[in-house]
Amino acid sequence: MSSSSALPLPFPFFFFFLHLLLLFPPCCTGCSRHLLLHAGANYSTSLADMLHGGSNVTDGLRRYLARFGYASSSAPDDDPDGNLIVSLYQSTLGLPVTGRLDARTLDLLATPRCGVPDLHLQPNTTARFAFFEGQPRWARAPGHFLLTYAVVSSSPPYQPLPLPRRAVRRAFRRAFARWARVIPVRFRETRDYNMADVRVGFLAGDHGDGEPFDGPLGVLGHAFSPPSGQLHLDAAERWAVLGGNDGGSADAGAVDLESVATHEIGHVLGLAHSSVPDAVMYPSLKPRTRKTELTLDDVRGVQALYGSNPRFSLSSLSEPDTSSASPAAATTTRSPGKTTSTATATPLLLLVAVAVLC
Ligand SMILES: [Zn+2]
Ligand SMILES: [Zn+2]
Repeated sequence: MSSSSALPLPFPFFFFFLHLLLLFPPCCTGCSRHLLLHAGANYSTSLADMLHGGSNVTDGLRRYLARFGYASSSAPDDDPDGNLIVSLYQSTLGLPVTGRLDARTLDLLATPRCGVPDLHLQPNTTARFAFFEGQPRWARAPGHFLLTYAVVSSSPPYQPLPLPRRAVRRAFRRAFARWARVIPVRFRETRDYNMADVRVGFLAGDHGDGEPFDGPLGVLGHAFSPPSGQLHLDAAERWAVLGGNDGGSADAGAVDLESVATHEIGHVLGLAHSSVPDAVMYPSLKPRTRKTELTLDDVRGVQALYGSNPRFSLSSLSEPDTSSASPAAATTTRSPGKTTSTATATPLLLLVAVAVLC
């Protein structure tokens, strides 16, 4: 396993600084819009509205971007205004390339996202999905094969599940089923965690793999490329299962477990990040948003690794399910709360990060 290099400052400090900037901007200290943001009334819109096009590329932002794979392309001396690094960020993630921290760019910067360094697509590439360097995949018998998975909750360093166990199991069952529907791979839950191919667990803080979690709305989780099978989620988040009856917090900081599970399973299978905003494998996910249905880009990516499930037809793909949850969508509360096809990624460890806003 390789892990990201340590940053000069702890990662949450960047979000903390951004949070302070949002709460106490130079223009005013207590207008209603900022209070609205603080209250989480409209997270993304308020952020874009608040920081429209005026900020500079600070050292903190450079460190933030370096964490996601934008370091080597732009040293401060070569790019004093940060135009190059911002342009790369924009082009990589499907934004209009302005080279400036415009509203859409700031909005995306502050949107919860996966911490795996982003891949920089080659020019004239049409496919948007990506694989990890060496294109690792689960290699077993041709045709259908079985991967087992287990959710562990009882043995240290694993934390108690933040939602009822049945809700967590259902969320992962549905998430695995979406991938199994399109590729000749079956997934089966097992109680034998030590023997499972894919091991899921909620952990907190420094849990021994060099990528400590940072509490609520920081790093959400991480997974490892094949054949590791490790899938870790930050136990400190306000996990929820939105749009159903399995519960979880539906407040402004709630993160949909099923959406993150589906994304992370993509990494476990060998997919890196996609540059298609609607794709499950796109690195960003706003709180209180459900994004679980595989898009054509997701399907083509994973089928390039494993082939197609003979029972699956591309014409059966439904529209992407990307929706913001209403506070009433979840009913109960019991939570505390990272190419070879188109680009190349070095990291094996995948992190999901959420900007700390409140
Ligand atoms: Zn990811
Ligand atoms: Zn971990």
